[in-house]
Amino acid sequence: MLMRNSLLWLAGNSTLRRQVMRSRLVRPLAGRFVAGETAEQAFATVAQLNRQGALVTLDYLGENVSSAEEATATRQMYVGLLDEIARRGLKCNVSLKLTALGLDISRTLCETNLRAILDTAQRHDNFVRLDMEGSDYTQITFDIFEQMFVAENRKNVGMVIQSYLYRSAADIERLNQLQARVRLCKGAYNEPPSVAYPQKSDVDKNYIALTRRLICDGNYPGLATHDSAIIDWVKQFTREQQIGRDRFEFQMLYGIRRDLQQQLIKEGHNLRVYVPFGEAWYPYLMRRLAERPANLFFILKSLRHK
Ligand SMILES: Cc1cc2nc3c(=O)[nH]c(=O)nc-3n(C[C@H](O)[C@H](O)[C@H](O)COP(=O)(O)OP(=O)(O)OC[C@H]3O[C@@H](n4cnc5c(N)ncnc54)[C@H](O)[C@@H]3O)c2cc1C
Repeated sequence: MLMRNSLLWLAGNSTLRRQVMRSRLVRPLAGRFVAGETAEQAFATVAQLNRQGALVTLDYLGENVSSAEEATATRQMYVGLLDEIARRGLKCNVSLKLTALGLDISRTLCETNLRAILDTAQRHDNFVRLDMEGSDYTQITFDIFEQMFVAENRKNVGMVIQSYLYRSAADIERLNQLQARVRLCKGAYNEPPSVAYPQKSDVDKNYIALTRRLICDGNYPGLATHDSAIIDWVKQFTREQQIGRDRFEFQMLYGIRRDLQQQLIKEGHNLRVYVPFGEAWYPYLMRRLAERPANLFFILKSLRHK
């Protein structure tokens, strides 16, 4: 827990970020979790995953941008990605963070950028997932989601719910009522016990309870986890309840539990891989290290063999 908290704290440390990103040793190692720095590299990965039978969601890395120019550049990147996904016929949607579209600068700027992306996705009959960030952003993400989905009747957008937050059961009831598409994950940020379960066993228990609600009453949920006990529970539950495999999808991160990804595809499950790319890989890498500090040893071992 101490290691997890320290790594998540370091994820927000800009001095370390500059040093790590300059390091010629760590840079290639980020490649275990990140599909490259350019869109072209990302498309090659998407095509390869599609050939292996996986669906993909593409994430252009970057968060908490501090200028309108950066936010607009992110929007342009996503518009280009959606055009190119359609042109190449890839089985791929996109995931984005609202703080990458300028949420820290102004809600209006963020919504304007998001609308342009949703319009493009709509034109190509594609889908946009709003990733969920730290708990300071949960309510505003929910509000912007409802503005798009309810007030503006844009149905090609979905949200993410984190099972570590106490509020998530109520959020899922609301999203099920709306028949909105939800990705369920455990949650990757450093949260205080006032808002999130401190014990991993409670987070896992809540994940199962929320999954049950989503599978029974939700709209094609994305069950984002590498936890094989939970995945086995889902398989058994859906078998018992005679719920078809077409009613939900499993989702996993690029480079993590590839064996399990292949197994699920072989068994005929829908499996979507979350593929991040771009130059701003530092906070993403630190969150992956925090989830499994053993990854640190993998990196240190590789450094020793350089
Ligand atoms: C598709 C997808 C999208 C996500 N989107 C969000 C989001 O929008 N917001 C958010 O807060 N979080 C997001 N996450 C991250 C998520 O919240 C968890 O932090 C992460 O998935 C680890 O939790 P787990 O469910 O795999 O279970 P855990 O109990 O943490 O892990 C179960 C097993 O999975 C393997 N594993 C897990 N993580 C790693 C790793 N980093 N490296 C190697 N092996 C690992 C290990 O074998 C581990 O024993 C997303 C995750 C996925 C899969």
